[in-house]
Amino acid sequence: MIREKVSRLGFLRPDFLLFICLFALFVSVVALHRISQTHKVYLAFHFVMMLWPLGQFAVRTTDFPDFQLFYLNLSFVALSLLGPGWLIFVLFLTQRSHQLRSWRLGVCLAPALVCVASVVWNPGHAFLKPVDGMYDQREYGTLFWLLTLVQFAYFFYALINMFQAIRTVRTSNERKQLATTLVGMFVLTLFAAIDLMVNVLLSDWLPIIPGLMSLGILLSDICFVVAIYRYGMFDILSMAQRDLFHHIAIGIVVVDENGKVLEVNRGAAPFFRLSKGDRFEMEKYLSPLQMQGEVNEFLYRYRHHPGERMRTEITLGESGRHVSIQISPVLDHVRQAIGRVITFHDVTELRKLVDEMNRKNEALHERNLELIAIQEELFRVNQKLEQMAVTDSLTGCYNRRFLMNQLEHEVLLNARHRVPFSVFLFDIDYFKQINDRYGHVIGDEVIRATSDAVRSQLRRTDIFARYGGEEFTVYLPHTNRQQAEVLAQRIMQAVSDNVVQAGEERVSITISMGIVSEEQDALYIDNVKEYLRELFSRADAALYIAKNEGRNRVVYAQSG
Ligand code: GH3
Ligand code: MG
Ligand code: MG
Repeated sequence: MIREKVSRLGFLRPDFLLFICLFALFVSVVALHRISQTHKVYLAFHFVMMLWPLGQFAVRTTDFPDFQLFYLNLSFVALSLLGPGWLIFVLFLTQRSHQLRSWRLGVCLAPALVCVASVVWNPGHAFLKPVDGMYDQREYGTLFWLLTLVQFAYFFYALINMFQAIRTVRTSNERKQLATTLVGMFVLTLFAAIDLMVNVLLSDWLPIIPGLMSLGILLSDICFVVAIYRYGMFDILSMAQRDLFHHIAIGIVVVDENGKVLEVNRGAAPFFRLSKGDRFEMEKYLSPLQMQGEVNEFLYRYRHHPGERMRTEITLGESGRHVSIQISPVLDHVRQAIGRVITFHDVTELRKLVDEMNRKNEALHERNLELIAIQEELFRVNQKLEQMAVTDSLTGCYNRRFLMNQLEHEVLLNARHRVPFSVFLFDIDYFKQINDRYGHVIGDEVIRATSDAVRSQLRRTDIFARYGGEEFTVYLPHTNRQQAEVLAQRIMQAVSDNVVQAGEERVSITISMGIVSEEQDALYIDNVKEYLRELFSRADAALYIAKNEGRNRVVYAQSG
């Protein structure tokens, strides 16, 4: 009777209370936190784990053996799934979920499924046997021990994975997360081992302690929840990454080594319609463009170099849009390519901007060249203008203003350094008659030819200027009276030898010249303009004398 009573008050049993705790934990995880991939895996795992205490509690609430067996089956099916659940959870937690490809998942689940089958089937009571036809007292058979062994094998395999992950993680937060998970796994294993010892192996000698396994499940789940939320850097990052992945304006496709689409984001929609599980074929995507040599080369590399990072830019025929395609290989731990991340970026606007900028640059370059040409032209014109400003257009000699400006410096320097210099002032004889007889055009020609004849006798440093009308002057630096005399005679000769053709007639002229030579040891100049006026009036006076004495001669001025 007492036993009957206890079983009716089953909701006070530890298994029931622990089920409630696990359920509360489940609800809090679902309700209070954002759900990530790792959360989903954990929640599935947690949900299965809740079935253990539920089954353990429920088996004591009924006296019908069939119900009892059903509840026990529920518990042991949950227990069978503990191992693979654990393993999958650990793989997600350590960012190794990519290892769970179909065949590996199959291999990983197979032992657990064998356990489930042996629980449900219970052939010849090889898993558990009722005592006195009731299942609240039971004996465990070989298959039970097989299940126990399989669960411990899963535990060790998950443990190896954890240790490997702990060795490779970079941040202390990640390490803490894995360590907390590890503690959870140990706690559960410890409680499972105690439960096995106390309630199964030594059940004949020790009192039954209910709820040991359930308590272990609760404690380990608490550890897992702490691992996810307290040190949940992976999840925050993976959420951020997924957010970015789906909202970025770049098409991203992740394919495995066979081109099967593992993930495709919304940004890929403008480029093609693909869903997870489809095959992405670069050849088909680029087939309208295969005439382009660059595309062919890209395709060749895409086919034959799966581990290579590559990039190309294509122009889509109909729309004329430019798309930049980038491929990054996904490598496993031995640097073997196991997939690829392919991005599609519409760079039309960028290309337009670059083209526009290039065009503008080119226009600017041309404008620059034009400006340089204009500048050079201006420089030439300026030079010409400067030249024109200081030269006489008929004879090409310097003009009087230029000569005077030059002399203002020159005479001062000569005076300071006691350098001798001379000045010639000459005038064409009887020039009025030339004009009268042959006209002004011939007159001009005579003036020009005379100046050429004079220039041919001068040195590069001499300054030859048209003083006015048919009067000229020459400044001769570093020239004393003796040297001036020689030069003057040569000029007189050159002029008289010079002949200008006037129709049938040959015209030749002579000149009269006044010369001033400054060669005193000490020359003091107070006012340079005044000095020059006086210098030229002396030359003029000498020229006047030359005219008066009969022309075609040279007269030296009185020294100043
Ligand atoms: P003289 O021997 O005394 O110098 O006699 P001249 O006839 O040469 O007299 P003068 O020097 O006074 O005469 C200058 C003449 O030269 C006056 C002017 O008509 C002429 N003449 C001045 N400049 C030019 C010019 O640029 N071209 C031409 N064709 N004639 C000029
Ligand atoms: Mg004259
Ligand atoms: Mg004259």
